[in-house]
Amino acid sequence: MADLPPPTLQIKVDRAALTANWRMLDRLSGDAQAGAAIKADAYGLGVENVLPSLLEAGARTFFVAHFSEVPPLLDHVTPEQIAVLHGPACAEQAAYAVAIGVIPVINSLHQASLWQAAGGGACHLMVDTGINRLGLPLSEIGDPAIAALDIDILMSHLASADEDVALNAVQLARFRKAAAAIPAKRRSIANSAGIALGQDYSFDLTRPGLSLYGGIARDELAGTIAPVVSLQAQVLQMRNLSPGDGVGYNTIFTADRQMCTATLSFGYADGFLRCRGPGTALVHDGELLPIIGRVSMDLTVVDASAAKSLREGDFVQIPFDLRQVSAQCGLSQYELLTGLGRRFLRQVL
Ligand SMILES: *Cc1c(COP(=O)(O)O)cnc(C)c1O
Repeated sequence: MADLPPPTLQIKVDRAALTANWRMLDRLSGDAQAGAAIKADAYGLGVENVLPSLLEAGARTFFVAHFSEVPPLLDHVTPEQIAVLHGPACAEQAAYAVAIGVIPVINSLHQASLWQAAGGGACHLMVDTGINRLGLPLSEIGDPAIAALDIDILMSHLASADEDVALNAVQLARFRKAAAAIPAKRRSIANSAGIALGQDYSFDLTRPGLSLYGGIARDELAGTIAPVVSLQAQVLQMRNLSPGDGVGYNTIFTADRQMCTATLSFGYADGFLRCRGPGTALVHDGELLPIIGRVSMDLTVVDASAAKSLREGDFVQIPFDLRQVSAQCGLSQYELLTGLGRRFLRQVL
């Protein structure tokens, strides 16, 4: 069978920026080691594109959410370097962790008993200090099933580290209390935003995700964290509109003059949701190409009147300054990254 031709959508992952971001977050973590959250296929960028650079930078502990996310990591790291955040939800998952040697995060008494029944061994423990989402309630930390665990990382997760709210200090104090009561080799509470809260939050290990990939989790990280991702799409067709011509589904845009448009090879199926439609401009050679009409599943149309040199087959930039785009369209930086579709070719440069 013939090789696939080059795709019309590209994600460029900047290896140097990724490495620099891990090193920066590790430095901001003080004496603590930075790990790396690599769940959701490395926030949409592809484990195979990201993990070698993180390892080279010095990361040694990697967090995924599901057991299904483990196999791609095993090509690069040893099983005990992999923490599975959701923990064992059934006996088969506990048995899988024992068989492979990955380390589950125990989140409840039920998970603790599943883990021991499967044979147990080293595990991590997530205690809930105020997010009330996933993790052992503090009222249960004295249970004998917890005392029986062999805990490597005792962890908790901050609900609002990206905001200046009293809850951050409350969670920190609760975590310190839990850490005094539960023996563990390492302690960890900070995600990307938590690292920016200062070294009180660093403990032994930090767990950055978003900011590795260029997200600005808090203002303190602006200018410190480098952009990692850029997006390009190819022009499939150029056309000329006359006054009165409508564009796209429901013709929500109607030309009021002679104009030139370009039709690009992406749409909401690629993660470019309709909320990023009119009001956003693509870029070619420094010229802005405002989106007109509805974003459809596979196609988006721009006003190309300003880009005199643009031709069919050229690539244009889809803006992806995570903080700016998030503010503009209301999607979080996390949603923008993890929503990037499978039709983009991911390239590490
Ligand atoms: C996703 C996740 C992280 C990483 O968070 P970021 O905000 O992306 O830095 C850390 N810890 C846990 C438990 C997570 O689920």
